[in-house]
Parts: sequence; structure tokens; C-alpha cells
Amino acid sequence: MDNIKKLARLLTENKDTLVLTGAGVSTESGIPDFRSPDTGLWSQMDPMELLSRSALSRNPAEFWRRSEPIFRMMATAQPNSGHYALAQLEKKGFIKGIITQNIDSLHQQAGSNSVLEVHGHLRTARCSQCGAERQMSPLLDQVASGDNPPRCNCGGIFRPNVVLFGDPLPEAFHLASQRARVCDLFLVIGSSLEVAPVCWLAPAASKLAIINLGETQCDEIASVLVRGTAGEVLTDLVEVIG
Ligand SMILES: [Zn+2]
Repeated sequence: MDNIKKLARLLTENKDTLVLTGAGVSTESGIPDFRSPDTGLWSQMDPMELLSRSALSRNPAEFWRRSEPIFRMMATAQPNSGHYALAQLEKKGFIKGIITQNIDSLHQQAGSNSVLEVHGHLRTARCSQCGAERQMSPLLDQVASGDNPPRCNCGGIFRPNVVLFGDPLPEAFHLASQRARVCDLFLVIGSSLEVAPVCWLAPAASKLAIINLGETQCDEIASVLVRGTAGEVLTDLVEVIG
């Protein structure tokens, strides 16, 4: 609790606080962190291979067949207390925005307004030929019914609007990186900071705080470190801040 009080003080003192969230924020919504070794879903497959540009171009039907249940699970998940706490902190002016590695849209569903999705999102897919956009949900139904791979009217194959391994860095990442360098306080939640390029953001910030269940790459340079799940810690934090 002492560390949560320290963190509450930091949030009160600093006017421009930016939050970075990783998979740890969504595990309490039932979405497994694919980097932890013993989560059932991801231990059966290598996400680097599954969600890669090369897998999509090599065999698009296989890419969609394997991705469909995972995308559907993420698309139907509900925000948890951590997402709601962050939305409240934004409304009360304690945080200015969220950079997220998550593609599940749960921050927006919980009511956060300023969200930069550096790995994209699952709300839509786009044609890899002409760029036309479609809602994801009917495309997933199409794939599940065997009409696979999903194609655009132009004949091009749809791809999810997420950053696949092998894709170039999205514009949102460059914006995030500029924001991280000038903010007063950078608060990392539920990320072990192991995944490039997001792990480069934390050391660039002038002051760093971390909420994470396990160790992170930047523990040593953090002003405050709180060990715990995002939902529990953020709920306590909102209570302390009042
Ligand atoms: Zn097209």
C-alpha cells in the first residue's frame, strides 16, 4: 500500500502523465498473455509465426482459420476493473492518455478517450490490395462458415488492422515515442517491457513508474514500482487518490 500511496502522490504532482499498457491489463478480462509460458491457448502455438506477415501471404486461408477463434475471443472480452480505473483517472485529469500494446479495444469500451494503439486493433480489417475497410465481426463469421480467405470485391485478401510481425512500425508508434519523450511521468502497466519497439519508450521518459505482476526490463530505473495485478492495484490507486 505504501507504494500505491507513493504512486498516487506522483500522479498528483505531475501534470502530464502518460500510461503504457500491455497484455497484463487484459489478463483479468480472460485474454491470456501470449508471452507467459503456461497459458493454454498460446503455449500451443507461436504467435510470432501465427500473426506474421509471411504466414498471411504464404497461406491466407490458414492464417484466418487459426486466427479466427483468437480474434473472436478478444473481440468478445469485457473490460475489467483496471480498464475502468484508468478511464476514471483520465476523466479526473490524472492521466493525459494511454499508449496500448493491446488490440482488444477494451480501454475504449471502458470509457478512455485518448488511446494510441501501437499494435493496431481488431475492430476492422483492410483489403491488402485496395485498402478498403470492413468490420471484423462479419469477416470472422465468413471465415467460420468456410468462406475463407475473406476477399474484397477487388479480389484482394483482407488482413486484420493489427501490426503483424514483419510489418513496418505504424504511425501511432512514432506519435507514442514523441509523447513519451516529453511527458512528465510515464506509467507502465502490465507490460514486462520485453517487446520491441515498445520497450524503447520507457527509458526515454523523464520519470518512470511501473505496475506489473512480474519483473520488467526497467525496474531499476523506476521511481515507483508496484507489484500486483492491474485491476487490484489501479482500483486501490483510484481509492487513494479519491
Ligand atoms: Zn480491395
